[in-house]
Amino acid sequence: MLYDISMAIHPGMSVYKNKAEKKPELTVRQDFSQSSTYESSLHLDLHTGTHIDAPLHMLQGGARIESIPLARLLTPCKVFDLTQAKDKITAADLQGIGITPGDFVLLKTRNSWAEEFDPEFVYLDQSGAAFLAAQKISGVGIDALGIERAQPEHETHKLLFQAEVIILEGLRLKDVPEGRYMLFALPLKLQGVEAAPVRAVLMPSNSGRHLESQGVSHSSQKNTPRMPPRTTNITLRRKKARIEAATPPATAEVVLLVEERIPGTIRALRAPKGMNCKKRLKKGGKFTFPSRTMGSIRGI
Ligand SMILES: [Zn+2]
Repeated sequence: MLYDISMAIHPGMSVYKNKAEKKPELTVRQDFSQSSTYESSLHLDLHTGTHIDAPLHMLQGGARIESIPLARLLTPCKVFDLTQAKDKITAADLQGIGITPGDFVLLKTRNSWAEEFDPEFVYLDQSGAAFLAAQKISGVGIDALGIERAQPEHETHKLLFQAEVIILEGLRLKDVPEGRYMLFALPLKLQGVEAAPVRAVLMPSNSGRHLESQGVSHSSQKNTPRMPPRTTNITLRRKKARIEAATPPATAEVVLLVEERIPGTIRALRAPKGMNCKKRLKKGGKFTFPSRTMGSIRGI
């Protein structure tokens, strides 16, 4: 099962502050009246619809969109129901709800029910951003076209970017219950810019009895500044173990840390030569696999 949490892109869509220049322009370049093919072009503001912001959006000399490792956008995530927040999300709203280091956090608010642009949309305030930065989360997504509003110094964006937190904006979370998911939020492979459109999808993380982890290779990014490696935690069913995928570089290893005894085995299903392992999962066990290992946990 998948939840498509992206905005549809069309000329009538809701855009930030209803600005005309933020509306997408779709033009039919040719159709069957003059040609044997149908072709269109798109003119799109990079902050229209569901998109990722890169640090350059708010920080002079900040990292560009291509610096964000793809593996950080194919990640377990937690959706939190904050629909009670009337005006903004503060640190107090986020404390004690289960946010831990490395999390990718999606904030579901009343914004997800608004079909038109609401100038009073719920946003993440400075205290909330400072809290998330201090928690060392990997990313934050919100169901608003901006993660902040009416903050002259753009404190929310800046606090998050300075803490290397990825910002995902323009989500649609109305149909998504609070819980744990796999997030797929791959940006268009644009280069040199401060943002990119994303098709964002969630898959419930407990829908199967196994969990797969796959390394993602990072190529052709030699000349661009990149964000430092970040550890991603993947929590297994019943919170008994986690896989940490260090990214990038592609040579990083996938480490399985067993936090409790699990009456099962781990199997590296697709691993480089010599890694065809099948190991007992003992408490305190730590198993290291190359980053491209694809495996599953059985018997849980
Ligand atoms: Zn943006």
